[in-house]
Amino acid sequence: MPCAKDKTYRGRIAPSPTGYLHLGHARTFWQAYGRTRAAGGVLIFRNEDLDEQRCREEFARAMFEDLGWLGIRWQEGPDVGGGVGPYAQSERRELYRAAWRRLRDGGWIYPCTCSRRELAEAAVAPHDDQDEPLYPGTCREKTSGATEPVGFNWRFRVPDGERIEFDDARLGRVGFVAGRDFGDFVVWRRDDVPAYQLAVVVDDAAMQVTEVVRGEDLLRSTARQILLQRALGLPEVGYFHCELLRDEQGVRLAKRHDALSLRHLRELGLTAAEVRRIAGMDGGEVFPVEKCAEK
Ligand code: GLU
Repeated sequence: MPCAKDKTYRGRIAPSPTGYLHLGHARTFWQAYGRTRAAGGVLIFRNEDLDEQRCREEFARAMFEDLGWLGIRWQEGPDVGGGVGPYAQSERRELYRAAWRRLRDGGWIYPCTCSRRELAEAAVAPHDDQDEPLYPGTCREKTSGATEPVGFNWRFRVPDGERIEFDDARLGRVGFVAGRDFGDFVVWRRDDVPAYQLAVVVDDAAMQVTEVVRGEDLLRSTARQILLQRALGLPEVGYFHCELLRDEQGVRLAKRHDALSLRHLRELGLTAAEVRRIAGMDGGEVFPVEKCAEK
């Protein structure tokens, strides 16, 4: 656990309003909250609402309500303010653009013009279903004098063969090999949306986050983000990757429909304490989620 006297601990929860939050999110965020509290730190709520096509106002409202209902309290966020805002990514585009410029000027990224179809045909399958296919490197040597990112998928050129390692507070030392476990990844999309990897790295640094708590489906993304931190000269942060919640068939909750959303469980009349128990949040056993959906 983080040191109880560490007053500088800054944790964050960073949901995207692309749907109702489900038990898996709740469990991860509960752990972020718990680790922040144990360290006597500050919890930041960041609204990751960059993708206009997928984000909805209704889901944004629901995520604040549902996490508050569950019992999570944050000290900084879009609803409560704080010193390092704004706390919604849609209002932070200038910061991402500045980072894009630095990456372009430093020669870290290149403009990729591959179509979806070309990518699907040429890509090498990832090692598991939790990650994107490896980019085959078709556009790696391309350059562009573009002064604005729009129009290309800007990719980060990963150092092939290098092992990117980090300490995880739950899993210990973790490492992935660039070019084998993950390939050149997009930092800015051609439809002018900064990619998750870039936005998160910029924000975690600007918001002075000291530990990132997230699901273990994002382990490889952590390795990608470490490369971005280095390229941008940003400080390293600590990591705690949570175990994912699965149903009785072993299917990740994130892949299931809304029946297990916090909203739905709440509408069924479950109390916050019951929901926390179901997801094994209060130290209890993980309750078979099928049964709770039936309740
Ligand atoms: N918005 C991302 C998600 O909901 C955040 C992941 C992260 O913690 O970096 O998956």
